[in-house]
Amino acid sequence: MKTAHNKAQDKLGNQYLKGCIQLQFDTDIESLFRHYFDTTNRLVKLITTNIVLLVVLYYLTQSIGLTDSHLIVILLTTLLVLSATLSAAGILIHRLHFLCRVSLIIFSLFLLLSTTLFSTASASSNLSQYFIFYFIFLYIYIFSGLIWRDCLSISIIVLISIFLFNHEGIFVFIKSDDFIFFLFPTLFCIGAGYYKEFQSRQFFLIEELLSQQAETDPLTGITNRRTLNHHLVKLWKQGCREKKNLALILVDIDYFKLFNDHYGHIAGDQALKKIATELTHHARRPLDLVARYGGEEFALLLYDIDANALSEHSNKIVTSVAALEIPHEASKISNTLTISCGSRLLYARPNLSVRKLLADADQALYSAKANGRNQAVIFGLNYKENQQ
Ligand code: GH3
Ligand code: MG
Ligand code: MG
Repeated sequence: MKTAHNKAQDKLGNQYLKGCIQLQFDTDIESLFRHYFDTTNRLVKLITTNIVLLVVLYYLTQSIGLTDSHLIVILLTTLLVLSATLSAAGILIHRLHFLCRVSLIIFSLFLLLSTTLFSTASASSNLSQYFIFYFIFLYIYIFSGLIWRDCLSISIIVLISIFLFNHEGIFVFIKSDDFIFFLFPTLFCIGAGYYKEFQSRQFFLIEELLSQQAETDPLTGITNRRTLNHHLVKLWKQGCREKKNLALILVDIDYFKLFNDHYGHIAGDQALKKIATELTHHARRPLDLVARYGGEEFALLLYDIDANALSEHSNKIVTSVAALEIPHEASKISNTLTISCGSRLLYARPNLSVRKLLADADQALYSAKANGRNQAVIFGLNYKENQQ
């Protein structure tokens, strides 16, 4: 029996064993990676993009004397400015990431056009003219922030275009003797870009595995108490901003010590896993959370819920665990394993602390135990009382 957390960890682990040679993960991990890849070093990407554009602009202005057509200069400048604007927008605004791709294409076009024109104008091959190409390839593969496959596609298109232009003899751009000076750095950039993304994928997998392990209870595979505490503080703040209720349900297994004594610790562990999995079915909304609170105690955090729904929810949890029918012959109240729940509903306000939520839920749990176990108790009876 595996929880969602266990499955996610298994997937990451399998992916790590498979390796990253193909620079492609399974679909859901790939989309997580793309997000990570897009958001890391966003500022560095923006700065390097603009430095590259400034350098190219410098080259352009230095070379203006080589062409006597203002139209060409205007065209080239327009391409450059367009490319700079689009890349800045694509890097800064995640939704507009596709603009980076458009920008690279325009930039490549600009590069191709300008170097070809300058080569033609200078009428002789000059190795320093290729420098701009090395520069742009380096930028594309290392600093553009696009995945290697996209960069490779763009650069192949550019290389083919260069080859075709040369082949047809339309532009005197690369002399066959110089071609090797052009090709090697390009291949180097393709290799370096591949290695960079390969490493980035490995880091991502290791980071994800570590953070999942730090957030998860190893026995049950659900969230641990530390993560619950973080989430609780975060949700409390969100609740204060959005003026919403927050509910905490503490769950404690009844007579679990007797269960262990009767069936053994391994059977006890199995029962804990079953109950943890059952509880995950009761915290399905995006902001809800179920965690192992300690030993044989669990906690459910429910956002934006009213008193009636909380009461219904807590009772459902109690009956659904009883319905698992895990035999417990040593129990003093039933012949199957049961739980008790203590809940607290609070209208999130800055002048109240999350400690109150925890303390009151604990008190309600104590009442549930004292009232005979296998039941749910809510601290206070209605919404108005909860606001005191
Ligand atoms: P009550 O109904 O009052 O809650 O009684 P209880 O026996 O459940 O409570 P008590 O606090 O006396 O015992 C809790 C037991 O939970 C004791 C401990 O052996 C068991 N326990 C805690 N963590 C684990 C675990 O990870 N695995 C197993 N198998 N047992 C655990
Ligand atoms: Mg306990
Ligand atoms: Mg107990």
